[in-house]
Amino acid sequence: MRIIREDQLIKKNEKVAVAVSGGKDSLTLAYLLKKLQARYPFQMEAIIVDEGISGYRAHTLDAAKSQLEKLEIEYHIESFKDNFGKTLDSFVENNKENACSTCGILRRYILNKKARELSCTKLATGHNLDDEDQSVIMNLMRGDVIRFSRGQNYYKKISDKFVERIKPLRYFLEKEIVIFALNNKLTFDSSECPYAEYAMRGEVGKFLDRMEELRPTTKYSLLSGYDKVLPALNQCFIPDSIGICEVCGEPTMDGTCMRCKILEKE
Ligand code: SF4
Repeated sequence: MRIIREDQLIKKNEKVAVAVSGGKDSLTLAYLLKKLQARYPFQMEAIIVDEGISGYRAHTLDAAKSQLEKLEIEYHIESFKDNFGKTLDSFVENNKENACSTCGILRRYILNKKARELSCTKLATGHNLDDEDQSVIMNLMRGDVIRFSRGQNYYKKISDKFVERIKPLRYFLEKEIVIFALNNKLTFDSSECPYAEYAMRGEVGKFLDRMEELRPTTKYSLLSGYDKVLPALNQCFIPDSIGICEVCGEPTMDGTCMRCKILEKE
């Protein structure tokens, strides 16, 4: 947890929300933050989002609750059903290819809103090096310059309504986190979401695995190179502030935010 202290990701006495899915990454993060709390004063609560994915989310929820209870971390469960009136399964019933983008937009909305309600000034997520590299490549492949140029501090920069995101595990390989979680006997669920097969992420992940095999350290080099150009990208493409959604009042670059556009369609 040297990264957290040296990069000052968490300041003394800050309140941090940790997003927990029930998988190895987020529970490893919760475990490490709990250890750090014993040596460094800050508050922490966990947020679990139940998207409503049948045959999958129930197992991960059980793992999340069980491990957080062992760690004595207070948690809050927020569901798509309670927040938006429908489960993810219902949202994407006729359009499974869109599952991950719908899921991502609605989940980020809930996490940000709940973290803010809890008066947290940081929102910690368990993204690892593989996740981060995949996002860099996917944003490039989509030609999505804004997302490509955002970086993790983007949210704070453009609106006080965004709780600042931190990703303390972003320089750790997925397999390193699996080994850590197993060695420390963490309870986690490793089942795969049924919508993952529709996502571009899986294919990009396979490509990166192959490149790492051919040229070890590729994954690390890709992210560290990206981090070096990020400040310049940020300056060129990211505005200093953005508007407010005309429907819900949350920050957005368009007149209506992505969450409200999804809900409008229903
Ligand atoms: Fe959501 Fe896609 Fe992840 Fe499933 S794989 S939890 S749909 S983002």
